[in-house]
Amino acid sequence: TAVMCPSFRATGDEQHSTRGRARLLHEMLAGEVVTDGWRSTEVRDALDLCLSCKGCRTDCPVGVDMATYKAEFLHHHYKGRLRPAAHYAMGRLPQWLRLLSRLRLARAANTAVRVRPLAALAKRLGGIAPERSIPRLATETFSSWWHRRLKAQMRDGRQMREDGRPGGGPTVVVWPDTFTNYLSPSVGQAAVRVLEAAGLTTVLPPAIVVPVPDEGDGEVARKGAHAFSVRRRGVCCGLTYVSTGQLDRAREVMRRKLDLLTPL
Ligand code: SF4
Repeated sequence: TAVMCPSFRATGDEQHSTRGRARLLHEMLAGEVVTDGWRSTEVRDALDLCLSCKGCRTDCPVGVDMATYKAEFLHHHYKGRLRPAAHYAMGRLPQWLRLLSRLRLARAANTAVRVRPLAALAKRLGGIAPERSIPRLATETFSSWWHRRLKAQMRDGRQMREDGRPGGGPTVVVWPDTFTNYLSPSVGQAAVRVLEAAGLTTVLPPAIVVPVPDEGDGEVARKGAHAFSVRRRGVCCGLTYVSTGQLDRAREVMRRKLDLLTPL
């Protein structure tokens, strides 16, 4: 089904449509009407309400992908300059959420944002619209839940495969993106239950399963939680860095993730 550009649907303003943005980008590259190139504030303002939803990419017969153009534009526009607060807050959301989780501050943060002046201050610093509410952080992340459950399964001596992983069916990698991991773990938990009900074995990308040593009788030993070691590094698709045009950082993040995924 066709997706009409949501920012155009909301504003009815040509400037906030895919066509309007494409036109401005064309003018920027032509350099006759828009003369300040990547530093153009007109182009920046026109791209500001683009949600990077990629609706235009599927709608457009020639595959206009405004989300990619926006990322590229923002990368050049802010190169070597201070960015808007939202780029540091929302663009680096994976880092902030990981930090809060490591410091076990999710509960404290949830309590703090219930205090109106504190919530208002946080929104102001983070470049978040005052009308929006700050989402609650999960007190147990999706990956913590997954590892806790895995350990419990291994302690209970549930079926293990020859490589030491629990379960029996083919393996499927569940990617715990930042939003699922720190904000809505129930979505990931439901996905794991569905996959396992379909007979698949779920693993998370950063988990390294150390094969259980052979105890001499040809049987694979069960050693409960000690039968595997888990490298607890978060994975991130880099979306928030890409959508705010922090492309150098996005490249680093994606390279690291590819390294992490190589053993799989
Ligand atoms: S990516 Fe931007 S321009 Fe394209 S449909 Fe979504 S909001 Fe509109």
